[in-house]
Amino acid sequence: MLTFRKSDLQTMIDHCTAGLPNEACGMLAGKAGKVEKIYCMKNAKPGPDFYEMDAEEQFRVMKDIRDAGLEMVGMFHSHPTGQAYPSSVDVEKAYWPGTQLPNYPDAVYVIISFMDRAKPVARGFSIEEGKVDEVRLSMP
Ligand SMILES: [Zn+2]
Repeated sequence: MLTFRKSDLQTMIDHCTAGLPNEACGMLAGKAGKVEKIYCMKNAKPGPDFYEMDAEEQFRVMKDIRDAGLEMVGMFHSHPTGQAYPSSVDVEKAYWPGTQLPNYPDAVYVIISFMDRAKPVARGFSIEEGKVDEVRLSMP
């Protein structure tokens, strides 16, 4: 389970809305399955069904997360026209290139679908060894 504040979800939705019709992305920092801080990031290779984080920005964010005493608990990206479910590319990208080693083994991948733009849908997943499992998103 990953816990958010409602305002955090809104921050992600706003960032992804601004990125339409392309995908948008960012990282989630926190502790023990609780999100404390959202990092809205640049899509370095924007496309309607593609995103890639800027390596330099990603490095800076990871450092900022460590400096704040937090952990990278997850990542988010949008699916402008697709379902809130990991695509085959998302599953592939969850690994270090050319290996079966997970990129971020404990990360929750949050996907926000804009199939209905008036009602974006967010779902969370773990991707391990090519297996996709749903992680419940909780917004108390
Ligand atoms: Zn995706």
